Amino acid sequence: MHYLDHAATTPVPEEVARTMLAVLTEGFGNPSAQYEPGRAAKARLERDRAVIAGALGCGPEQLFFTSCGTEGDNWAIRAALYQNRRVGKHIVTTAVEHSAVLQCVKRLEQEGYTASYVKPDRDGRIAADQVLAAVREDTALVSVMLVNNETGARFPVEEIAAGLRDKPALLHTDAVQGFLKVPFTVKSLGADYVAVSGHKLGGPKGIGALYAGGKAKNILPMLFGGGQESNLRPGTEATAQIAGFARAAALRLEGLEEINARMSACRDYARERLGEIPELRFIGPADAPHILSVSLPGYPSQNIVGELGEKGIYISAGSACHRGKASHVLTAMGLDRRTAAGTVRISFGTETSLADIDALAAALLEHKNTRFPML
Ligand code: PLP
Repeated sequence: MHYLDHAATTPVPEEVARTMLAVLTEGFGNPSAQYEPGRAAKARLERDRAVIAGALGCGPEQLFFTSCGTEGDNWAIRAALYQNRRVGKHIVTTAVEHSAVLQCVKRLEQEGYTASYVKPDRDGRIAADQVLAAVREDTALVSVMLVNNETGARFPVEEIAAGLRDKPALLHTDAVQGFLKVPFTVKSLGADYVAVSGHKLGGPKGIGALYAGGKAKNILPMLFGGGQESNLRPGTEATAQIAGFARAAALRLEGLEEINARMSACRDYARERLGEIPELRFIGPADAPHILSVSLPGYPSQNIVGELGEKGIYISAGSACHRGKASHVLTAMGLDRRTAAGTVRISFGTETSLADIDALAAALLEHKNTRFPML
């Protein structure tokens, strides 16, 4: 198998799975329980929190576990708007956010908020000035992702944060694709809310975390219940998931430079090999080490993904082909229909080898040579 879809999700290393098994079978106490197994579970939970907080460069008291990146994004958006309810009902975001942000903002528009969607250029880039120019006196929230999940573009969150410093608008960044892939700390970013997720970096699915700091205060609880997570996100903690997330983050941190250099080398080798295919176009800047988007204009991405899948090569349709419609990201970049419809995303992980890329290059070339393009 040649798994080249690590931006969708990653395999869990055995070491991470073993850590989780130990928590499930031995360290299973409820962290709220007053007796020893409960106290031990609570201590472990706080150690795990400190690991993720350390990786983000924040204090453990600023980090709250969530069920996924989507939850963190939704929570941050609602909390920021609640805090700034007297500032106004305007939101600035980009046209290329993940649906975890876009669909939440769309819903808020139905509830009476207004939103400005900043568009990228043809290369998928967004300048801080464009975002700041959209900010108004009644802007309560700016939400701009750190790394785009389709193109790998890294957005200038630091500059946006600097431009918002003296404004009431709070800044949220969806760092799900950026965490432990591109260098940052919450301090260097300057965002007030930063959402991350475990399963993009070797952790299990179903666990994420939200940093709240900077101008964020009086944080609106995500849920109401038994008081866990400083009463902001109650519910019995997902201790095994959290332990797996922390172990995975620790493993990444230990080998960070080497892992990211390996992924970048895969991306660069893929550029070289796929560049040999006539007509193939590279889409977006691929700033992040793990994402490369390419198009075979005229060859529908669903067909490419399906055919490669039959050969055990797994990539994703960049044009998430929702009922045949090109992705909102590629559309916002202004790609023509044939190029957008032919776009696939290749994404690399810790175990990706150059042989995986050779297999992909051969299969893409064969696809191009044996299939007729659509008109
Ligand atoms: N944001 C981005 C940029 C993503 O790529 C994803 C997942 O694909 C998410 C948010 C959602 O994360 P989760 O799957 O943990 O809900």
